[in-house]
Amino acid sequence: MFGAPLVVWRRLADARGWHTIESLCAFAQPAGRTANTVYEAFRDEILADLRAALPVDAVLLSLHGAMVADGYDDAEGELLAAVRGTVGPHVPIGVELDLHANVSRQKFDAVTAMVLFKEYPHIDISERAKEVFELIADAVEAKTEPVMGWFDCRTVGLFHTTRQPMRGFVDRCAALEGHDGVLSISIVHGFPWADVADMGSKIIAITDGDKEKADRLARELGREFFQLRQATQPRYTTLDEALARIRSHTLPRPLVLADVSDNAGGGAGSDSTFILDAMIKCSVKHAAIGMFWDPMVVRIAFEAGEGAQLDVRLGGKLSPASGPPLDLPVTVTGLKRDAYIQFGERDKNFHSVGDMAALSVDGILIVCNTRRGQCLSLDCFTNVGIDPSAQRVIVVKSMQHFYAAFAPVASDVLYVAVPGTVPPDFQVLPYVKASKNQWPFIDNPFPD
Ligand SMILES: [Zn+2]
Repeated sequence: MFGAPLVVWRRLADARGWHTIESLCAFAQPAGRTANTVYEAFRDEILADLRAALPVDAVLLSLHGAMVADGYDDAEGELLAAVRGTVGPHVPIGVELDLHANVSRQKFDAVTAMVLFKEYPHIDISERAKEVFELIADAVEAKTEPVMGWFDCRTVGLFHTTRQPMRGFVDRCAALEGHDGVLSISIVHGFPWADVADMGSKIIAITDGDKEKADRLARELGREFFQLRQATQPRYTTLDEALARIRSHTLPRPLVLADVSDNAGGGAGSDSTFILDAMIKCSVKHAAIGMFWDPMVVRIAFEAGEGAQLDVRLGGKLSPASGPPLDLPVTVTGLKRDAYIQFGERDKNFHSVGDMAALSVDGILIVCNTRRGQCLSLDCFTNVGIDPSAQRVIVVKSMQHFYAAFAPVASDVLYVAVPGTVPPDFQVLPYVKASKNQWPFIDNPFPD
């Protein structure tokens, strides 16, 4: 995902006959805080490469934007400030961020142009890479003078762009680009599970040389976004409601349940057992669930081989938020070494998910793997011989990225709010550093 922009930028630079110097490309599945030694080593490597490359005409970075390292609440803000310090005030710096970035003043002030993904699920990474490249290329060639405005929307939530009214808001923002001096509009959704001062949503507007207009546009769009706060939030289903829907569900198309609280993309272990336990107790049949990050169970399944029957202790290992492990008599029904899944219709990114094993217990097929990651595509099931469209029920451990691939085969999609590491109820989370002067912590953070 975050490597894709580097490929796009190299291709676009080559087409202009520009010389590209590349530095580090690294990615980790979200989890707890990044070890400070890792962050500092990566930062120092990037800065050393940049110093060795000087003088440069421009700098482009592909970052997530919500990294928190031990001792660095705004790790990427510190990196961007150091990049600015290295190249000086006049070299254009462009950055592409995930829309789940927490954008601090430090990040904002360090760069010339900031572009965030527009789509959640993130299916537009390469398109946004092209956008930030062209913004910076035009600045290098003095065709435009990008200036940025921002507005703090004081709103915390999750904003799926697949449904109204968020879909319409994203489209309205995009339609403003390319006219009347408006170069780019980004909606910062924010990463709500990070307890840092800059957690929350913002609007970034970039205009051609008109700072006042950029600020005004960001403010107007930010207020519109704030007005939509209730209506944009996903509707969550309780586990009991989901089980009732399963009981009444009839084929031909499967009912898709998203285990949003165990989303590896948010930092969860992807091994919680709440939904599987309930389905087994309710004797749900013709169901499939994935992916459980359980390297030990996968290893045992490979050693036993396809067709073997054995008892396993599955899931519930990463934290108390994953629930208790389940002791299950299973049959190994599918195995695949060194598997990949594809994500994104437009980008066609491939993600390594390690070794995979499919286990069957009482009419439920369970997919386990060895490299933690969320259930992004149908490959999570088809890789180990499971046809998702032939199931009555599919459970995916993912917040929203699953939607692009699974919605087309589903009769309906339910977002099930069970306990877990990343539950979607922000009111109950024990924030210390994040501002509480935001909705939904208070009803109206804009009393004036
Ligand atoms: Zn994201």
